[in-house]
Amino acid sequence: MSSFRTRSAPSPTGYLHLGTARTILFTKLFATKYEDGIYYLRLEDTDRNRLNPEAAINLIGNLHTLGLDPDEGVSLNKHGKKNDFYGIYQNGDLGPYIQSERLEHYHEYAQLMIDKGLAYWSYLTPEEKQELQEIKKSIKRPIDYYKICVEKYIPDDLYKSVKNALKDPNKPALMYKLHRNLKVACHDLLVDSTIFDLSLEEDFVILRPDGYPLYHLAHIVDDYLMKTTLVVRSQEWYPSFPKHKTMFLDCFEHGILSSEVTDWVHNCPQYIHLPFILGETGNKKMSKRDGNVNMQDYLDKGYMPEAIINYLAFLGWNPGTEKEIYLEKYDFENLNQDQRLAKLIHNISLEFNYEKLSKSPARFNLEKLNWFNREYIKLISDKEWFEIGKVKLGLVNIEDVTTQLALILDKNRVTTTSEFGSDSDCILKWSKPTNDEIKWKKISIEESKQNLKEISDWLLNNDGLLSFISSKSIENHIENTSNLETTMKAWLMANQKDTGSYLWPLRVALSGKQKSPSPFELLSILSKDEISKRVKVVLEN
Ligand code: GLU
Repeated sequence: MSSFRTRSAPSPTGYLHLGTARTILFTKLFATKYEDGIYYLRLEDTDRNRLNPEAAINLIGNLHTLGLDPDEGVSLNKHGKKNDFYGIYQNGDLGPYIQSERLEHYHEYAQLMIDKGLAYWSYLTPEEKQELQEIKKSIKRPIDYYKICVEKYIPDDLYKSVKNALKDPNKPALMYKLHRNLKVACHDLLVDSTIFDLSLEEDFVILRPDGYPLYHLAHIVDDYLMKTTLVVRSQEWYPSFPKHKTMFLDCFEHGILSSEVTDWVHNCPQYIHLPFILGETGNKKMSKRDGNVNMQDYLDKGYMPEAIINYLAFLGWNPGTEKEIYLEKYDFENLNQDQRLAKLIHNISLEFNYEKLSKSPARFNLEKLNWFNREYIKLISDKEWFEIGKVKLGLVNIEDVTTQLALILDKNRVTTTSEFGSDSDCILKWSKPTNDEIKWKKISIEESKQNLKEISDWLLNNDGLLSFISSKSIENHIENTSNLETTMKAWLMANQKDTGSYLWPLRVALSGKQKSPSPFELLSILSKDEISKRVKVVLEN
C-alpha cells in the first residue's frame, strides 16, 4: 500500500465547478510529486435529493479531458466494478469508492460510536429543531441537544441499535455527542495550528433517518478505511475542522479506530484547506454571477485543457520564478494530448509544494486565462492545428497551401479554437462585399473602384510582384508578405497616391469584409486566379 494517499470527493450534483477542478488539480499535483503517491477519486453522493447520474458522467469525463484521471477509484474506464445507476466503474482495493455503496461501513462505525456513548439518537422533529434555533438567537448560547433529548425521551431509545433505529417510524437522526468543555488543536499545513473552543459548538447529525451519512461521518469513516494521508479540500470545510478532529481523537481513544490501519502521525490525516477563488471583482467566492464557473463551458468554448490546467495551477500557487508555461514546442510535436497533460502536471508537480501555496484567496482573471490559451495555441504544431481546423470548419481537404495559410491566419489571431474562421473565412468562404463596404471614406465609390482596378492591374501584371504572390509556402509566407508590403508602399509613395484610398478597396475586395488581415497578407495567400476573380466580381458589381 502506498504511503502517500490523497483524494478528491466531489458530489455529482451539477457541473464541474472551476474551483473544484482547481482543488482536484492540487490534489493530483501532490500525488504526482511523490513517487509512491496515489490520488483516488471518491464520489460523494449521500445527499439523495440532489443526485444526477449525468452530472457524475460529465464530472468524471471533464476530469479525464483535463488529464485529471485518478490512480484509483471511480472512472469511465470500462474495467473494474460497474455502478449501474451512474454507468461508471470503480478500481482499487479499498472500494467501493461511491459513498451510496458504503452504507454498511457507515452503519458499522455509527454503531461503534453509539456503543461507546459517542453518539445518540435524536427524536426532535424539524419543527422542534427550528424552535430551538430561534431560542438560541435569544439566549446566544449553543443548544445542548443531548440534555434536551435525555430529558424528553426514553433513554433506551437514545442508544438503540442502528438497525432498529432506522426502522423506527419516528425517524430519529443520529447525533454526535461533543465534549463541550474541551479545546481542540487543529493543524492545517497552510494555516498552521488553531485552537478551537468546543464549548461554542453544538452536537451535530451524522446519520440521517434514511440511513445515509452526513459529510462528517462519511469523511471520518472513508478517509480512515481508505488510508488517506492528505486531505486537500476547500476552505468552506475549515469551520467543520474541529468537529472532524474531535471525532478522530474520540474514535482512537475509544478503540473504534486503530493506528494499525493507518500510519497517521496525529491520529488524523494531514489537511490543507484551500482559500476560495474570488470573482474578478469584489471579495466573494466566485459564483455564476462573477463569470463562468462551469468547466464544460470553457472546454466547449475551445479553451485548451493544457491552458486551463496551467492557469488553474497558478490560482493559489506561485513557484516564485518567472516561468509560467510548463510545456514546450517539442512536447506538442512529439506527444499526444493525454501525454502532454501528464507531462504538464508532472512538470508543475516538480516545483509544487504547500509552502508555495497562498494563504489568501486567488482572484480569477479571464484575461490571464486567455493569455495562457493564446500561448498554448502558439505551441500547437501546424499539422495538429490544420487537423483541428478541419474539424471545426468542416473542411474536406486541408492539403493545399492556400487552406493551410488561411488556417495559420486564425492561429495567429484567435484566443480560443471556437473562433476558428474569424480570419480564414475571408480566404475560404469569400462573399462579395457591397459597394458601401468597398468605398473608402474620403472618396466616391467610382473613384474607389478606379483605384482598385489600377492597383490590381499593376499587381497582376508585374512579374516581380507575381513571384511573391505565386511562390506560396508556409515557410516563406512572412517574408512574402513583408516583401509585398515594402514594394507596394514604395509604389504608392513614388506615385504620390493616398495609401488608404488604394489599400482599403483592395483589402475589402480580396477579403469580402471590412475587418480582415492586411492586403499584403491576403495577396500572399490567394492564388493569382482567385485575386483576379474577386477583383473582377467587385468591379462589375
Ligand atoms: N464533497 C465535498 C466537496 O466537494 C468533499 C470535501 C472533501 O474533499 O472532503 O466539497
